[in-house]
Amino acid sequence: MKTGIRSAGSTVRAMAVALIGLPGSAAVAGAAPSLSVDDLQACMERLRPQAIAAGVSSASFAAHTATIKPEPSVLEKLDYQPEFKTAVWDYLAALVDDERVADGKAMLATHAATLAAVAQRYGVDAETVVAVWGVESNFGRAQGNYRLPQALATLACAGRRQTFFRGELFAALRILQGGHFAPEKLVGSWAGAFGQTQFMPSTFERLAVDFDGDGRKDLIDSAADALGSTANYLKQAGWRTAQPWGVEVKLPAAFDAGLVGRTKRRPLAAWQALGVVAIDGKPLSASVVGEGDYGLLLPGLASGAQLPTAGPAFLVGRNFDAIYSYNASESYGLAIAHLADRLRGRGAFLTPWPIDDRGLSRTERRELQRLLAARGHDIGEVDGLLGEKSRVAVRAEQTRLGMRVTGRAGEHLLARLRQTSTQPASR
Ligand code: CA
Repeated sequence: MKTGIRSAGSTVRAMAVALIGLPGSAAVAGAAPSLSVDDLQACMERLRPQAIAAGVSSASFAAHTATIKPEPSVLEKLDYQPEFKTAVWDYLAALVDDERVADGKAMLATHAATLAAVAQRYGVDAETVVAVWGVESNFGRAQGNYRLPQALATLACAGRRQTFFRGELFAALRILQGGHFAPEKLVGSWAGAFGQTQFMPSTFERLAVDFDGDGRKDLIDSAADALGSTANYLKQAGWRTAQPWGVEVKLPAAFDAGLVGRTKRRPLAAWQALGVVAIDGKPLSASVVGEGDYGLLLPGLASGAQLPTAGPAFLVGRNFDAIYSYNASESYGLAIAHLADRLRGRGAFLTPWPIDDRGLSRTERRELQRLLAARGHDIGEVDGLLGEKSRVAVRAEQTRLGMRVTGRAGEHLLARLRQTSTQPASR
């Protein structure tokens, strides 16, 4: 999981927008820069010549920036310091849960004809495209609530990535100027990613497609346009048709952690020589892993685990890199890859994560939030997202129950709360 703005040249987004709301992503209020209405308008005056040089008409610039106000919450999100980093096993527990697999399978059926046409045109399979859709916007249901000009103008005038966000602001204004969307429709994440595929405005300009042929590239209301655009993105990112993203592997008992890394690529034969075998213990073959060179991904290491019990290991190839480019985070890439595999009917990873307290699905997170609320905790909306309020409540309950106080909610806490849910809340 990445929490910093990336140099977003080749990525869809500036930020791991899909992570918003997962544990660890809640903001701890820091010293976010402030921006007054006057500051913002003065900044817009300064930016006007640049915007016009970037192809925004004077009339459009005025129309879409004259009445905007600063959006302080985006600056907090830009600068937040996560209280703790979400471990990959918790991240995957919420992003690739049974609910999303079932929803994804339903979407594969509903949009079968479109997805077949998308695969035909771009060479990217239906399961991968639907997995991106499901993780990015929960299949179009969660596209964000920020009006883009306001959010992007704030980020263009304050904070630590102003130059980048100026480019995105101008792109958003060009999109509005082109009549692609009514201003009130162009809403998205705090960082300006929008639509069912959460494209940044500049990505929209480069790579969005009108797949349903109605004359508009409508990533907001057209699933076909969104699916086609995702496939087009992956194709441009180097997707190889009919090649697997990678495969779970088994490492020898003694293995050098220095060999681990997505970009430390080696041919299959080199991995075989190092003792890496298929998860069933058989020799690896190109028919399973695909062609090319592979990096070894061991996501548990980044979450604090250590060899030899760091959890599942994967050899990942070029298609994993294409997914990674969508949102520069290896956990994100693994979520997409694994969800696609689950949509193909495959099961969970065979190597267990090195934890004895499994992470919670969204259904379980909602149940946990209801149990916390029933005990008198203010957890905000029951949304399955476990933000800062939920974590405070989790700590309080862990203290009360004599558990280790971590703020992390796993199956053990849920089980304890279920047991005690009939007892009166201690307030
Ligand atoms: Ca269209």
